[in-house]
Amino acid sequence: MSSIAPELSCDIAIVGGGMVGASLAAALAPLRLEVIVIEAVAPSAAAQPSFDARTTALSNGSRRILTGLGVWSEVKREATPIKRIHISERGRFGSAVIDAAEQGQEALGYVLENRILGAALARELGAAPGLRLLAPATVTAAAVAPDAIELSVRAADGARTVRARLAVAADGAGSLVRREAGVGAEEWTYDQTAIITTLAPERFHGHVAYERFTPAGPIALLPVAAGRVGVVWTLAPAAATRALSLDPAVFLDELQQAFGWRLGRLTSLGARHAYPLALTRAESQSGERIAIMGNAAQGLHPIAGQGFNLGLRDAATLAEVIAERGGADVGDPAVLARYVEWRSADRRSLIAFTDGLVRLFGSPFAPLRLARGLGLVLFDLSPAAKSAMSRLSLGFASRLPRLARELPLVAPAASHAPAPPR
Ligand SMILES: Cc1cc2nc3c(=O)[nH]c(=O)nc-3n(C[C@H](O)[C@H](O)[C@H](O)COP(=O)(O)OP(=O)(O)OC[C@H]3O[C@@H](n4cnc5c(N)ncnc54)[C@H](O)[C@@H]3O)c2cc1C
Repeated sequence: MSSIAPELSCDIAIVGGGMVGASLAAALAPLRLEVIVIEAVAPSAAAQPSFDARTTALSNGSRRILTGLGVWSEVKREATPIKRIHISERGRFGSAVIDAAEQGQEALGYVLENRILGAALARELGAAPGLRLLAPATVTAAAVAPDAIELSVRAADGARTVRARLAVAADGAGSLVRREAGVGAEEWTYDQTAIITTLAPERFHGHVAYERFTPAGPIALLPVAAGRVGVVWTLAPAAATRALSLDPAVFLDELQQAFGWRLGRLTSLGARHAYPLALTRAESQSGERIAIMGNAAQGLHPIAGQGFNLGLRDAATLAEVIAERGGADVGDPAVLARYVEWRSADRRSLIAFTDGLVRLFGSPFAPLRLARGLGLVLFDLSPAAKSAMSRLSLGFASRLPRLARELPLVAPAASHAPAPPR
């Protein structure tokens, strides 16, 4: 990064250049606004917490948005399609299968390493006109000033102030910007920890994603490149601490017992990482001159693999609301109100769906266990339930943002100046 002036001005300051903040910056590129992304950990650093070792299940809606951002063409070779989802419960009679072909889709979603998606987003930002990345640089305070919001930034070469018309809180579940805006957040822990890793099963995964519910917690096995699978194993915190300390062979053995033999013997364990799980829900997706998105707005349990998909729709929607604002100030209350209103149904439904799933499958209560078994059988027999489930892929908003419909952010006729070739 070149040396920067102590005071910088821009239209939009995005705090947090992780999965969602970087996606928003890429989405805004055609609008020719002055955008500054302030990110605490450089995108290429091994410790980058958003572009880490996790694998993310991307919905078809997310694939479309990433296509619009120019990122999908760069990562699609490394993305593994999910052709089928198999849902079962250990020791119970029910199981259900959702099949892409039955739903008339090429794939139900795609699995991609965060690190690969993050690198592609970072390259996109490097090429975007009008965009400046401050990293590593940390926002330490935010204050509303006349016609602007002022962010105090701590960078390696000193303290800065960034003045923006609009600040976007994309700084994760513990969002400082959300707190500085005085927007409260409900937060409760699930008292569970997700262990993520990869392994090689004896049999080819066949592009099937497995979700298996066990008394100790759900296990997801996602198909990834080179015949490997990405694992998300959710356990009580003490059991997770123990599982992390196990010798790899013993860990694989215990996972095998919990998951079963559908993929043959599980071998070749990769590195293990732990994520404590909580639900965070901001009271609102806006404050004065502040828009809140991604995990800063809602941090979800990964049981349904929807956190990033939802955050990406936040980003696509805000970009469209900004594109459509006419001559209005980007931080105008009417612009923010439209963003909040547009996101509310999708957000509310998905938080309730994810939290409901955790509670339903986490309960040892006998009638609920029976209902789960019956539910999976009925679900397997019901085309309507399956197609409702596969609609998760697009979200619950009454109207999808243009990027999620594979349309450019700005309709060609409404575009004032065509973007130069890149
Ligand atoms: C185990 C697990 C599996 C998951 N699987 C899926 C899945 O399959 N599909 C899916 O859709 N979602 C999944 N998710 C959810 C998904 O990972 C998150 O929703 C997504 O990472 C949120 O991105 P974000 O950019 O909003 O926040 P974050 O990833 O938290 O990024 C926030 C960024 O802000 C930066 N930052 C923080 N504070 C400051 C500051 N003060 N100044 C400057 N920068 C700052 C951080 O360095 C970071 O880069 C999973 C989550 C977990 C834990």
